[in-house]
Amino acid sequence: MDFDFTEKQLALQAEVRDFARNVIAKTVMERTREYRWDKSLWLEIGSHKWPGVVVPTEYGGMGAGPMEHAIIVEEISKVDASLGAALNLIQQTIMAVLKFCTPEQKKKYLPGLASGETYAMTGITETGAGSKLSDMATTAVRDGDDWIVNGIKTEVHIPEYVEACLIFAKTPGGISAFLVDTKNPGFKVLYPREIVGLRGNPMAAVGFENCRVPGENLLGREGAYQEIFFNSFDLTRTGNAAKCIGIAEGALEEAIAYAKTRHVGENVVTDFQGIRWQLADLVTKLEGARWLMYKSATEYITKGRSTVNAAKAKLLACTTAMEATTVAFQITGSHGCFADQPFARFMMDAKLSEMTGGTVEILRNTIARDLLGKPTGPTP
Ligand SMILES: Cc1cc2nc3c(=O)[nH]c(=O)nc-3n(C[C@H](O)[C@H](O)[C@H](O)COP(=O)(O)OP(=O)(O)OC[C@H]3O[C@@H](n4cnc5c(N)ncnc54)[C@H](O)[C@@H]3O)c2cc1C
Repeated sequence: MDFDFTEKQLALQAEVRDFARNVIAKTVMERTREYRWDKSLWLEIGSHKWPGVVVPTEYGGMGAGPMEHAIIVEEISKVDASLGAALNLIQQTIMAVLKFCTPEQKKKYLPGLASGETYAMTGITETGAGSKLSDMATTAVRDGDDWIVNGIKTEVHIPEYVEACLIFAKTPGGISAFLVDTKNPGFKVLYPREIVGLRGNPMAAVGFENCRVPGENLLGREGAYQEIFFNSFDLTRTGNAAKCIGIAEGALEEAIAYAKTRHVGENVVTDFQGIRWQLADLVTKLEGARWLMYKSATEYITKGRSTVNAAKAKLLACTTAMEATTVAFQITGSHGCFADQPFARFMMDAKLSEMTGGTVEILRNTIARDLLGKPTGPTP
């Protein structure tokens, strides 16, 4: 496999890096503290079409693919992982629309999602259901050509700004996936939920009360949730790996810059061998995570599925991010312990990344099942 970037990809990387450092960095601390989504910033990101990285140009997107998605998410996450997460999450609905929706639905949703005018969320988790989708209580039943959805999804993002949601619900034929328009009168934002990390992307619980969904908004076939799930999550688990690599790089970069100048007696902090070895181990693991991420992205491009490699990439990237952000915090001493420093944010963003989009345990189960020759479902 050849993972060398093309000239175009290198130019994209430079463009995103420049934007992240010169624009996004200015407000990241404030948005984190205030637990605030900045729509105008999202529109600026949208003006580059980065939310629509995989959306074909005919629908207003960049017409690029998973490698470009990984480049964008990594560069943005070095500075602000909440926005990296938001760019990643939106791809779950975009991939579902691209693969399973009609041309009219594509025309309706994709241009707004690509330009940042609208947003999309994914609703899976409920009070009684997280890793195991079959625990969910949300139901959808047929009524003529339509479906009637009832249930509550408790961990979704920026719902008041969302136009479309990709949701999973129990139907008589098994778990199914639907695209629900938030203008639907049966859709309600129920209550906000304040999360401790990735705070630039606020969360809430939403309800579906006798929510009438047109038959054409059933994605794929009834009961075919696995196909829809992996079509979206194989891409976003790769994107999640990119986000975690970005978090780790951002934290290490800032910590090393400080530690190089921090005198302790005759030395600066980076003179100490114990610290150098930790840093050497971390950059080595990050390099491994990066190659796994490229492998997963390439497999997704060529085969349309990369379930096991995406799980491996996300597992190594998020556990390394946790380790890297802890080391970054530690080597800054008490300097890193104050609220004007980013090290606690990096650590919390890394910790939450071990939960979101498949916990580390679920990823390990996927990898182990593959190793043992067993099928790899979404919640093994
Ligand atoms: C920042 C963030 C963003 C999120 N965004 C969304 C979103 O947009 N939409 C959405 O629907 N949800 C979202 N979630 C929820 C997320 O998908 C769930 O946290 C995740 O699926 C795990 O579910 P749970 O938290 O209910 O854990 P549970 O399923 O209750 O699991 C609890 C613990 O048990 C472990 N465990 C469970 N099953 C097994 C097993 N078979 N073997 C070993 N260990 C196991 C888990 O790994 C975990 O450590 C988000 C979460 C976070 C933190």
